[in-house]
Amino acid sequence: MQVLDSLAAEIKAFLGSQPEIIITNHHNPDGDAVGSAIGLYGVLKQLGFKVKMVMPNDYAPNLKWMTHSEEVLIFDQNEGRATELMNRAQLLIHLDYNDPKRSGPMEDSIRASQAKKLMIDHHQQPSDFCDWTYSDTSMSSTCEMVYHFLDAMGWTNLIDKDLAEAIYTGIATDTGNFRFSSTSPITHQVASTLLAKGVESQKVASRVYDTNSFSRFQLLGRALNGMEVWDELHTAVISLNANDLKECNFKKGDTEGFVNYGLSLEGIELAAFMMPRDGMLKLSFRSKTTFDVNQFARQYFKGGGHRNAAGGSSELDIAGTKSKLLEALSAYKNELKALADAH
Ligand code: 5GP
Ligand code: MN
Repeated sequence: MQVLDSLAAEIKAFLGSQPEIIITNHHNPDGDAVGSAIGLYGVLKQLGFKVKMVMPNDYAPNLKWMTHSEEVLIFDQNEGRATELMNRAQLLIHLDYNDPKRSGPMEDSIRASQAKKLMIDHHQQPSDFCDWTYSDTSMSSTCEMVYHFLDAMGWTNLIDKDLAEAIYTGIATDTGNFRFSSTSPITHQVASTLLAKGVESQKVASRVYDTNSFSRFQLLGRALNGMEVWDELHTAVISLNANDLKECNFKKGDTEGFVNYGLSLEGIELAAFMMPRDGMLKLSFRSKTTFDVNQFARQYFKGGGHRNAAGGSSELDIAGTKSKLLEALSAYKNELKALADAH
């Protein structure tokens, strides 16, 4: 990894100036975003750097067990303090996102910052807004990349059990527990190194996954009941409307992963999930193999992400969004059929 080595050398030289560092991640931080931030933060802190984590908004309770969690500053709850810190910082580190707009309420502060910027991210088509960009779309997770970055810096010995659990969590969640095709032999090697540092994988899995709420199951019932299967397009579509959310007492995070149920249906190559959020419909797309949902979400739903997992939004209502989706997909009918026939 020559590119990473030369990047690490440049970062090391810059860190010699003892910059104040802010670690940020994307809006609605997930396991990979939170795990990578905490893993990197813990190491930088041990090294004596002035470092803070600022996340755009709060994250799910099933990630709050991670070490240093109580030190995270939530931007939309502490805008004044967070902005002040960002204005003062000399280095911003952007984890698990590739464009300031993915940081939601922090976008303006990021754009306004005079600090040097480092991106570590595995999403496709990174924007050119950083001084240093470590982008690798073949990587399983930003957590895996943070591990490689720490390795290039010569700091993996500083990853203790608690930090290893944070980094391991992001790798496990972003790979669907080592199932997705982005899981490489090296991903397993990194996981193995983290396990050897004492990660209790069963405990981590239980804290992350055995946290279903009653409202989540009520919503899942409705989501599965209303699932539409577009046979000819090998597509499954799940939607929840505002009423569903209200009647089932929706809480943030309740619908995480619902889209995967559509994809697990036999013969399905593409799954979509939609529900209201922030006055729009939030969409999630998942595909199994080579159907590129990043490209699709970008083209039709102002979104993006990865080849097999992407999101977007729609200003139409559910019926209108389904019609738009149906029409957009008709151009891909042959491709989807060929993929379904291939396995
Ligand atoms: P999810 O469907 O779980 O919300 O997101 C799947 C992937 O797509 C994640 O990696 C997420 O960062 C990305 N993603 C979700 N929504 C958007 C969006 O509106 N725009 C872009 N560019 N990426 C998104
Ligand atoms: Mn990620």
